[in-house]
Amino acid sequence: MAEGYIKFNPTWIKEPYVINRELLDEFNMIRTELIAKGYLGQLPNGIGFGNISVRISDSNQFIITGSATGGIPVLDLSHLALVESTDIEKNTLICRGLTAASSESMSHAVIYQTVPKANAVIHIHSSQLWKSYFDQLPTTDPSAAYGTPEMAFSIERLTEKIQSSSGVLIMGGHEDGLIAFSFSLHSAYEQIIKR
Ligand SMILES: [Zn+2]
Repeated sequence: MAEGYIKFNPTWIKEPYVINRELLDEFNMIRTELIAKGYLGQLPNGIGFGNISVRISDSNQFIITGSATGGIPVLDLSHLALVESTDIEKNTLICRGLTAASSESMSHAVIYQTVPKANAVIHIHSSQLWKSYFDQLPTTDPSAAYGTPEMAFSIERLTEKIQSSSGVLIMGGHEDGLIAFSFSLHSAYEQIIKR
């Protein structure tokens, strides 16, 4: 790891967190589409990739698919975490649920904080889209690595520059990584598939 790298440090309150059934169904519906396209899933070595989240209305809190859930085809409530608060500079967050929030939660958090009308964020992996749109779509600083405060700050600089409530960003320092955001989960998904 590069010098100055701040290790992601979640405080995990391991207690059940209940969300409504419709929201869980919506998560599963979008995930099924993403899995079918290979944008979310599990690498041959068993490491899951891709995550989705939705904002809790009128707050910067959000519900996100848990760490290491990429390989699970249909999620239940135990696979979702509530992110209660984040400190991007210190790379810390507080999450609640039977699963811990992903270290990519910070990339989601910075979008909720800087784009007030964004209510959903989808992070996918696609080698093809990443290569096609690198520097064609807004692209984060290639020297800002995955899971670092620098990645979050680089995302912040782009969302402030583009001033849009929906879009797709290329994560320059996270090979194959893209992040889409919009006013709803379905609209965030459409941001990806229309590419
Ligand atoms: Zn990723």
